[in-house]
Amino acid sequence: MPSEAAVMTASGITWPGGVRLRALAMLLAWIAAAIVAPAGKAFAADADEKALIAYDYSMAGDDSRMRILMRFDRKPDFSWFLLRNPYRLVIDLPETGFRFLPEALAPRGMVSNVRYGALQEGRARAIVAFSGPFDAERIEVIENENTPGFRLIADIVKATPLQFEQALARIADRTDSITTTPKGDRLVRTGSMPKHRFTVVIDPGHGGIDGGAMGVDGTEEKLITLAFGLELRKKLEAAGRFNVVMTRDSDEFLRLDERVRIGRQHEADLFISIHADTIRYQQVRGATVYTISEKASDDIAATIARQENLADEVAGVELEEDNKEVADILVDLVRRETQSYSIRFARSLVKQLSSEIELIKNPHRSAGFRVLTAPDMPSVLMELGYLSNAKDEKLLRDPKWRSMAGENIVNAITKYADSREHTGG
Ligand SMILES: [Zn+2]
Repeated sequence: MPSEAAVMTASGITWPGGVRLRALAMLLAWIAAAIVAPAGKAFAADADEKALIAYDYSMAGDDSRMRILMRFDRKPDFSWFLLRNPYRLVIDLPETGFRFLPEALAPRGMVSNVRYGALQEGRARAIVAFSGPFDAERIEVIENENTPGFRLIADIVKATPLQFEQALARIADRTDSITTTPKGDRLVRTGSMPKHRFTVVIDPGHGGIDGGAMGVDGTEEKLITLAFGLELRKKLEAAGRFNVVMTRDSDEFLRLDERVRIGRQHEADLFISIHADTIRYQQVRGATVYTISEKASDDIAATIARQENLADEVAGVELEEDNKEVADILVDLVRRETQSYSIRFARSLVKQLSSEIELIKNPHRSAGFRVLTAPDMPSVLMELGYLSNAKDEKLLRDPKWRSMAGENIVNAITKYADSREHTGG
C-alpha cells in the first residue's frame, strides 16, 4: 500500500528535527488511515465500517519497568488479559489495520517479542511477550491532546512468579468491559465483558499429498477425517457456545507442527486430532482416544504414533527432528497441568462414546504423538476406527454413523467445557 510506504519513509529518517518529524509521521499515518480505509472497503464490501487503524507502536523502559504505547485513529474498543508460558500481555481489538513499524517491535527491556494480526473475522489481537513475570500497573486508553486519535498505554512492572499468578487470578475474577467514564478520556472497567468463548480446534488428520491410511475397500483416511471434522464443526457450531476452528477444511497438506501452531494461535481450550488408521491386526476395530505419553501404553499405541509421526516424511517435508519436546513433557509443571486436562477429557470422551459406538479394548491409550505436544493446550488424538477392519471402514463411510459419533463427541466436549468453566480454568 503506498500510504504505508509513506509512513515508513517519514518515520524511518532521523535527524535533529526528529520530534517534529515524528509528529509529521503520526499525522501522515492519520491521513493514510483515512485514505486507506475506503479503498479497503472495496475489497470487503460487506464490512459495515472501516477497520480501526493502529499505528506508531513504541515502548520504553528497562528490565524492571516498561511503558508500551499504541496509537489508534479512533477510540479502540479493547480488552486485555495475561497468559503464561511465556509471560504475555494480550490485547484484543476489533478488526484492525496495523501500521506498526517493524523496527519499533524489536525486543527491548522486559519485552522479548511483539506479535499482532487478525484473529478471526472482525477481531484482531496484539500479543506482547515478556522475558519474565510481570504485573500490569495500568492499562488504559487516552485521547491524544494535540493530534487526532487515541493512545493505549500499558505500564508494566517486573514481578515475582507468584505476583504474576495473582495478577492472572485477579483478571480471571474481573467481569469487566472497558467503557468511558462520563468525564471523557479515562477508561474504567465496568459491566460484563463478552467472555472468552471456549475454543475447540478440530484437526482432520492427513490431507493433500498425504492420504493417510488406505482402507481394505480403498477408502482414503484423509477424506474420512475431513468429512468427520466438518460434521463435528457443524454440530459444535450448532451448540452455540463454542468458537470452532479447523486446522484444515479442504484437501490440503499441513505439517504436524503447523497443526499444533494453529491450535496454539487460537489458544485452543481443546485440540482434537481426527484419524482412522490401519493396523496389521485386521480383526481389531473400534474407536481409540490417545493422549501423549513419553512411553507408549502398548504396542498398538506405539505403532499408531509411529505411523502418525511419519506424516511429514510421507509428504516429503524436511524435518528438524526434535524428540526432546516429547521427552520433556512430564517434567514441566504447566505441561503436567495440560496433560492432566487432556487425560480428563480423554476419559470422559471414552465414557460418553462407550454406550453408543464400538470401542477398542482399553480405549484410552497413550504414546508420543507429535501433534499432541503443545505444552499449553489439552490435546487428544482420536482414531475413530480402523480402516484395516472392513466393518469399521463401512461405518466410517456412513454419514449417519459419523453424525451419531459426532453428536457423542459434542456431548463430551460440552461436559468438559462446563467443568473447565466452573473451575475458572
Ligand atoms: Zn492417521
